[in-house]
Amino acid sequence: MVNNGSAARHVPVAIVGTGFAGIAMSVALQRDGVEHVLFERARDLGGTWRDNRYPGCRCDVPSHLYSFSFALNPEWSETYSTQPEIWEYLRRCADRFDVRGRTRLGAEVEAARWDEAGRRWVVDTAAGRWTADVLVAGNGGLSEPSVPDLPGLDRFRGEVLHSAAWTPETALDGRRAAVIGTGASAVQIVPEIQPRVAHLDLYQRTPAWVLPHTGRRISGLERWLYRNVPGTQRVARWWVYWARELLVLGLAKNPRLVSPLRRLAIRHLERQVADPDLRARLMPRFSPGCKRLLLSNQYYPALAKPNVDVVTAAIAEVTERGLRTADGREREADVLIFATGFRVTDNPFAERVRGRAGRSLAEVWTETGQQAYRGTTVAGFPNFFLLMGPNTGLGHTSVVHMIESQVRYVAGALRAMRRRGAAAIDVRPEAQAAYNERIQAALRGSVWNTGGCASWYLDAHGRNTTMWPDFTWRYRLLMRRFDPDAYRMEPTPGRREPASMLTAGRA
Ligand code: NAP
Repeated sequence: MVNNGSAARHVPVAIVGTGFAGIAMSVALQRDGVEHVLFERARDLGGTWRDNRYPGCRCDVPSHLYSFSFALNPEWSETYSTQPEIWEYLRRCADRFDVRGRTRLGAEVEAARWDEAGRRWVVDTAAGRWTADVLVAGNGGLSEPSVPDLPGLDRFRGEVLHSAAWTPETALDGRRAAVIGTGASAVQIVPEIQPRVAHLDLYQRTPAWVLPHTGRRISGLERWLYRNVPGTQRVARWWVYWARELLVLGLAKNPRLVSPLRRLAIRHLERQVADPDLRARLMPRFSPGCKRLLLSNQYYPALAKPNVDVVTAAIAEVTERGLRTADGREREADVLIFATGFRVTDNPFAERVRGRAGRSLAEVWTETGQQAYRGTTVAGFPNFFLLMGPNTGLGHTSVVHMIESQVRYVAGALRAMRRRGAAAIDVRPEAQAAYNERIQAALRGSVWNTGGCASWYLDAHGRNTTMWPDFTWRYRLLMRRFDPDAYRMEPTPGRREPASMLTAGRA
């Protein structure tokens, strides 16, 4: 890190965020001896697994797969890990791989603009101005809570929570709760809080497909094996990985193949909900997998409890005391819980990043839809890399696999820049356009596009700008090597020597 004479400090690479993506990027850059800083808006590391601390929060992807390939965790206590364990794992990784010391906490990136003359990014953070040769956005697609603009919300006298901005001190016991949403977050929250609250109204706009959960505790013997017998956890991980990849056949290739899941979910519903009226209200009307498949053995039983009402009438407004539905009925609530997801296709971070000609990513994406080359680079935004960028999302397996694929690619790009003495690389618009045509064509037949649902996978124009339409090993292969031909490489101006850019050292 150098002070370049102005108030701004300079660093070769600036990383936004300290979730799985930011940490993996830092580890890769350290291996290559590239100096960098991580900017984290919160007071601790951990990304989505720090923020989502609602009751019952756990990962619906198996534990063995939901970890870094370079830091398997033999200590997972369950086959599907809870949020506290994953967050703890990430913090341990941050310490073990020396990420914490490179992190500036409370340093939200407020604006980042490409300085054409200086061939670098000017990054304004809550902790001051920095400049960076390269900017890596690891701030995640599921990082900005989405709260629907319900009329009257500001006059509600009770407390308001969002699943991703939970305040554990908010009292729930013996109170009336209104939960809005029936997605992956709600399905975990509802069974946890139902026994505690006096009454729970679940506002359901769209019933979701719920499958039996097969999670269990990992025995002491298994953990001993993972710790002491080399390769055992790798084999378990390998097994889970390939079993999950089979789901791609149904989700992305041929939606008819998801029929067995439909039968399984219907049996699950019929077994768990005896009341035919409630059953009918919980029966989904779209293809399984169109929205994220949910796993729970406790959700349906919780909804059948006498202190729970599943409200299917549309919410008309928020009142001082609760919610009024379109049928004119007002239901009182002390706590309003939004399990309404995230701003994915309109992530406000895109407004903060300005590339060539001062255009923001949000402005560019308004015209083209959210898109990037290989989910990672965007024409007109030199030296800028997105982790978990457009069309890298998954519905069936671990995003950590995608993150590691991208990190490898980004590290390769930086090595290529160093080798060629390039000050800037910018993906060719034609390469980006051709890539996205292929992605959109591959998505056309997917269950996400054809399954008859509205989901966060699709943007306001119905374009699927979020999901990866293929096996994840195909993405791994695609990202194995940086492909310089898809980029314009621009030489270093006189200001800094090529050799001094992206060189070793410690921020
Ligand atoms: P979500 O899947 O986007 O679900 C939001 C829910 O809120 C939907 O049921 C939606 O209804 C409802 N909603 C939104 N606006 C509404 C309104 N104005 N009135 C009534 N209902 C409204 O959000 P999420 O459950 O937080 O999950 C988001 C993603 O986070 C998941 O898909 C998953 O990728 C991730 N996640 C993962 C885990 C995990 O276990 N790994 C756990 C939680 C979340 P409609 O369906 O009608 O739109």
